[in-house]
Amino acid sequence: MVKGVYIHIPFCGIKCPYCDFVSTPVEDKNIQKDYIKNILKEFDLYIDKNFSVESIYIGGGTPSLLSPDLIVFLIENISKKVSINTKPEITVEVNPENYRFADFKILKESGINRISVGSQSFLEKNLKALGRKHTPEDVIKTVDSALKAGIENINLDMIYGISGQSLSDLEKDLKAYTSLPVKHISAYMLTAYEDTPLGIKVKKGDYSLPEEDLLLDMFKLIDEYLEKKSFHRYEISNWAKDGYHCRHNLLYWEGKEFLGLGVSAWSYLNGVRFGNTKSLVIYNKMVNKGEKPVEFYDPITPEEKRKEKIFLGLRLKKGIELDLVREKIDFVKQIVEEGLAQIKNNRLVLTPEGILVSNYISSMLI
Ligand code: SF4
Repeated sequence: MVKGVYIHIPFCGIKCPYCDFVSTPVEDKNIQKDYIKNILKEFDLYIDKNFSVESIYIGGGTPSLLSPDLIVFLIENISKKVSINTKPEITVEVNPENYRFADFKILKESGINRISVGSQSFLEKNLKALGRKHTPEDVIKTVDSALKAGIENINLDMIYGISGQSLSDLEKDLKAYTSLPVKHISAYMLTAYEDTPLGIKVKKGDYSLPEEDLLLDMFKLIDEYLEKKSFHRYEISNWAKDGYHCRHNLLYWEGKEFLGLGVSAWSYLNGVRFGNTKSLVIYNKMVNKGEKPVEFYDPITPEEKRKEKIFLGLRLKKGIELDLVREKIDFVKQIVEEGLAQIKNNRLVLTPEGILVSNYISSMLI
């Protein structure tokens, strides 16, 4: 049963130096329109599946480079084709410099009820270091105009672990974030992905990321500060007010079925994980020929599913059932003794110290 639909918009105004998402600077409205039509053609190739859609997530890239009418056209056509829950969560990612009141009003009227804002920081120096073009005022205007248009379920993205960032810088950011009437905050540690301009700089020694101890202190500060402001962590990088966790992203972490549409989008259907081509040219060509633009299929065996449950479940604050890792009980005891994990109600839950080395812990457990 397909519960969620993800749509990837691979266009951005500029390419941020740390970003490893598939996106290219394309502002040509005709290319954007053709792409959206092709998304719908791709969707047609799947509508024989069993859909009971609870969430639609339009991400990217920068979906807010598209005109709001084009986004509405996309959502309306998807809603006509398959069964959608009576109260779906429909999210659009927006950059702070793009949409204002009139745009949000158009989105709201078509049923879009959640936005996720690529705010990243309220400190000018951080925005500059991240190569972002918006200002802190743009974020405030975005939140304000979305609220006025009736969209109250708002997420703000934050990036921490920027070179030279101090704990007091981070506290200033947290203060600014929590002073806005938003429901959800995603805080991501800056990662130097290989082959990105940032990754290349780090490799050459021209940019240094903070030491592990400082990163741990930053994570603890974020977690404690947000908790005090009633944002509760439910996943490694996500905090929400009660009732405002992201339903769509939880589908991924809980191993439910979802369909991804568009360039580079991944899906998980009928026990098979598969991913689309990363090339816009190939994508358009294949879809226009009536072919699924899939680059790889990866059937998930029961053993792989078990491993995935461990890996994804450990990201969640509720952790995983201890039974899943009984065979590794000595390692479990060791990480509990070292303060990297706790056992609560027969579940294994990572501590902040464990979260920082979660990849290592997962790999040992699977
Ligand atoms: S706007 Fe977002 S998706 Fe686009 S390049 Fe920057 S980080 Fe990547």
